[in-house]
Amino acid sequence: MADEGEGPAIGIDLGTTYSCVAVWQNDQVEIIVNDQGNRTTPSYVAFTGKERLVGEAAKNQVARNPTNSIFDAKRLIGRRFSDSLVQNDINLWPFKVIEGPTDKPMIVVTYKGEEKHFSAEEISAIVLKKMREIAEAYLGTTVKNAIVTVPAYFNDSQRKATKYAGGIVGLNVMRIINEPTAAAIAYGLGKPDIVRRNVLIFDLGGGTTDVSLLTINDGTFEVKAVAGDTHLGGKDFDNRMVKHFVKIFKKQHKEDISGNTKALRRLRTACERGKRVLSSANETTIEVDSLYNGIDFSSSITRARFAELNMDLFKKSVELVGKCLTDAKMDKGGVHDVVLIGGSSRIPKVQQLLQDFFDGKQLNKSINPDEAVAYGAAVQAANMAGLGNEKVQGIVLLDVTPLSLGVKVEGDKMSVMIPKNTAIPTKMEQPYFNANDYQTSALLSIYEGERVKVVDNNWLGEFRLSPIPAAPKGATVVKVCFEIDANGILNVSAVEQTTGVSCKITITNDKAKLSKEEIYKMVQDSEKYEVEDNEHMENVRSREALESYAYKMKNIVNDEEIGNKLDAAGKKKIKAAIKHVIHWLNGIQHAKADEFEDKLIGLELICNPIIAKISRQE
Ligand code: ADP
Ligand code: MG
Repeated sequence: MADEGEGPAIGIDLGTTYSCVAVWQNDQVEIIVNDQGNRTTPSYVAFTGKERLVGEAAKNQVARNPTNSIFDAKRLIGRRFSDSLVQNDINLWPFKVIEGPTDKPMIVVTYKGEEKHFSAEEISAIVLKKMREIAEAYLGTTVKNAIVTVPAYFNDSQRKATKYAGGIVGLNVMRIINEPTAAAIAYGLGKPDIVRRNVLIFDLGGGTTDVSLLTINDGTFEVKAVAGDTHLGGKDFDNRMVKHFVKIFKKQHKEDISGNTKALRRLRTACERGKRVLSSANETTIEVDSLYNGIDFSSSITRARFAELNMDLFKKSVELVGKCLTDAKMDKGGVHDVVLIGGSSRIPKVQQLLQDFFDGKQLNKSINPDEAVAYGAAVQAANMAGLGNEKVQGIVLLDVTPLSLGVKVEGDKMSVMIPKNTAIPTKMEQPYFNANDYQTSALLSIYEGERVKVVDNNWLGEFRLSPIPAAPKGATVVKVCFEIDANGILNVSAVEQTTGVSCKITITNDKAKLSKEEIYKMVQDSEKYEVEDNEHMENVRSREALESYAYKMKNIVNDEEIGNKLDAAGKKKIKAAIKHVIHWLNGIQHAKADEFEDKLIGLELICNPIIAKISRQE
């Protein structure tokens, strides 16, 4: 919470592609313009031989300095390096990302002539600092407190990492709120008192799609359900356009520019501009002077062709609406308003698909799609700082948890403690029994996700409760408690009922943040339980290694650019091998590390020589 006298509190929409900052002032929200006079700022950070650049300055020099210009940090934040989504992204980014300690992705850049490594939190921190400076320049005073927004679908570790990013630059993040909730506040604030309206917020941004259903009632905003895709947005539409024009260029000039980063980057910039034009015009021309080998490129594209190139993606975004309604157990007829936000929601075809889905209902475009989130965040910041009028002070947010949370039980199954879409803050308790005769400690592993088997869900953390009284299977009772605070951050505790021995954990994504004592204890514990834990962990790790390699190969052969360089026979061979392995993985519950390792070696022997051929060609 902000203390009185701490000055203004701002709202920051920390976007994948663009960020926006706003403040409550003179009884209204002001969207603050940056030093270039723009109301949104690119979420870009660049490193050069001389300086560090942020925002417009960073984005403008990307073509000259692609490997040291960082964007999309939000796609990495709070994720593990081995995450298949991260692996997939790494193949597409011009900058380098390596595996850091504890599976953390680290961005590698050359800054002032030296190699430097940055985490996604550090890059986001630099963007947050820039947004704060924009606000400070406008307000003429220092700013300490902020509300920062995240996609509704962000998990616990992504939220925590975002909050941590604020902390790195000394910003007090009073609360993390969901972007669609912020948009709903912006939508609801200007209206006379709203009584029981179901509002669907459709947010199609640069990197993510978020669909949320909220009920607004007399100043209370309750999220009923959320659905989303953290990898579906405007950049994907740009990529489709780029691929299209790479093919056109090949036809026109018999040259393949797909391996030339600089040419692709310049083409992408032109495509993004063209895409925006197509939201208001029926046709546009993409022109890039001296795109490749001195050839000037020019080619036109219609709105219809652009829509065709992206139709599956557009449909996918609208399908999320159905998913969200199903989760909320609501019929589409029960939705009173459909509100569009996010820059990409301006695309006419997307609007048409959405309107068709709602049987011709008029969509609401009353709020600015680029600014609504920061606007709502500024209102919530004023609310928490005790500023603003009666209406601002009357706001109550009721968010939900986007994923189910639970613990691992016998048979490596997930036992759900807090089901997804539960309103937060929340607290749930449940008793668990010892799974083995006379065990003297209990390992509690915490996961989030919807799958039955924990291996398919996301591991959040674990702790060991020890000692517990040795007793026959099922006789020891451990009471486990899950508690989620208003930021969506999870605390788990466990207590053995007869001895009162207890243990608790705040789920953190960053092991480096643990205190020395905690690290020391963890090392000690791991040595103590090495024999017990190692075998199991090894099995799990070997499985993960095999899975991630198989999916990496799958992504490579399916990638239009890289996959097309493979010869047909090689591609077929890889596909068959992957299919076999994935089928095998899906079919087994348990296997020893050796079996996974054997399969991995077998798969590598098939794939690596074929893949190596294309790298040699380049
Ligand atoms: P995020 O919140 O994910 O950073 P934004 O909501 O700011 O993203 O949306 C940025 C995306 O919107 C970019 O991909 C941009 O190209 C796209 N965009 C902006 N204006 C338009 C437009 N007029 N037509 C189509 N797409 C647009
Ligand atoms: Mg956004």
